[in-house]
Parts: sequence; C-alpha cells; structure tokens
Amino acid sequence: MIDLHSHTNESDGTTPPAELVQEALAAGLEALGVTDHDTLAGYDQAAPVAAEAGLDIVCGVELSTKLHGKSVHLLGYFVNQPPSDEFRGWLHAMQESRRDRNRRMIERLRSLGLDITLEEVQAVGRSLAGRPHFARILVQKGYVQNTQQAFDEYLDASAKGYVDRMEPAFAEAVERIVDGGGIPSVAHPVRLGRNHAEKTIGEMVEMGLKAVEVYHSDHSPADTAAFLAIADRYGLAVTGGSDFHGDAKPRIRLGTGHDGNLNVPLTVLQNLRAAA
Ligand code: AMP
Ligand code: FE
Ligand code: FE
Ligand code: ZN
Repeated sequence: MIDLHSHTNESDGTTPPAELVQEALAAGLEALGVTDHDTLAGYDQAAPVAAEAGLDIVCGVELSTKLHGKSVHLLGYFVNQPPSDEFRGWLHAMQESRRDRNRRMIERLRSLGLDITLEEVQAVGRSLAGRPHFARILVQKGYVQNTQQAFDEYLDASAKGYVDRMEPAFAEAVERIVDGGGIPSVAHPVRLGRNHAEKTIGEMVEMGLKAVEVYHSDHSPADTAAFLAIADRYGLAVTGGSDFHGDAKPRIRLGTGHDGNLNVPLTVLQNLRAAA
C-alpha cells in the first residue's frame, strides 16, 4: 500500500513533516507522496527523515488553477528528478501573490470589525497561510462556531470577507510542471462533476495532462472504476492517495482514506516512474 497525496503543516495539514514520515511507517506504507498546496517546504523537511528511516518518499505539489472560471486542483509529481530551480522560483512567485492576498483579506476582515492580524494567521499557516488558517483563528476568537461557518460567513468566494487571488490557468500550470521535470495529474477528478469529467479530462489532455488521480478518499468504487477507464482511454498514467490533512480532516487516514475506503497498490508508483 502507498499514499501519493498528503499535506503537512507547511500547508493546510496539521502534521509536521517529520511526524508524517513516522505516521507513514507506522501505517506500513511502502511509499509516501507529500503534496502540499503551492509549497515544497514540507517535502524538503520530510525527505532527509524518510531517507534516514528507509521510506520511499515522492516529491509532489498541489496547485490551485483556473479552468473555465472554476478552481481545479492539479498535482505535480517529480518521481525521477527534483523540481528545476525555475519551477521552485515560479512557486515562490505564487506564494508571494498569496501573501499579498492574505494582507488584503486581513484589511477586509478588520474593516468588517473583526480583530484579526496577519501575524496570528501566519503563526498557524507557516510557509503557506491560506483560508483554512483564517478560519482557525476566527473559530479560536469565537467569531464563528466552526470552519464551515467561517467560510459561509466570511471566507467563501460568495462571502463578505473574501478577496480574490491570482491563480494560474490550468494549461500554464501543466506546462510549468512538465518543464520543471514533473508529471501533472488532475486531483480528485470527481470534483469536476461526474457528468462533465470525461469531456473535461479530454480537454486537459490537449493541454498536456499526463495523469489522473484515480484513487482518492472522495471516490466511490464506481468513481474509481470510471476514472480508471478514462485513464485507459486517454493513455494517462494513474495516481492515488488519501489527501491526508491530519486533524484538519480527522476522518481521513493516511494510506486507508475515508473509513478504510482506500488501498493504493505499489504498482501505481512503479508505473508512474516508468511513465516519467
Ligand atoms: P486558499 O488556497 O487559501 O484560497 O484556500 C483554499 C482552501 O480552503 C481549500 O483547499 C479548502 O481546503 C478550503 N475551502 C475552500 N472553500 C471552502 C468552503 N466553502 N468550506 C470549507 N473549506 C473551504
Ligand atoms: Fe488542503
Ligand atoms: Fe485538493
Ligand atoms: Zn490535497
């Protein structure tokens, strides 16, 4: 069993990178992919710990992109070579635009009468503070009861505290990952909509997509079978993982997913390396 989709506390997970390696070993994983949102900081810290412990670790990243006006998550896997310096530089530019968005969102929330500071958000968000960290502070301070309410009232795109941030076009993100030495894989494709997924993935293939996340905690057995068939039809490689976020999503477990609905075979990684 392997898990190619996990988050550390360098993005919106709660587990420090070194602890994630220990959890992977305890879960009996044969390989672990670290795929933080927009940052390689979690992987960079986990890699030496994994090497020391003899765990096969895969460098990955999960990018938020825009396609037809909608947000689509794209995974990038660097299975046979490290990401190029140019790719890392591009990621840093995106992190800067996120920090700029965060500053503007603090202004907006403060203008709505909330006592919240950038320092508070960055203290929980580390290298990559995002809206889930804003939500955590709003809950801590008693402005809302829970994360969902924080999004509904303040942070969702339709809510009063929201400010926009630049997200790369899907095609650009695909190209950046390929040029950087990686394999782009569309994350949790069930979110594309069960009726549109096949057509949309066809368009993505035209843009250079190389893989699809067939196995995911949000996928039913029927979804998994459907995406396996789509991968086959378009000649795409297959990826899979739990989307582990630690205590931020407590029902999802490393390796085994949502109430044990996941078991990604080692052959997935072997095939991915062969495809690279
Ligand atoms: P950001 O990248 O900072 O814009 O934050 C995006 C993250 O916020 C997503 O990856 C989700 O984990 C979370 N998120 C976005 N919208 C919602 C929502 N309506 N309810 C709960 N969580 C959300
Ligand atoms: Fe996340
Ligand atoms: Fe995602
Ligand atoms: Zn994820």
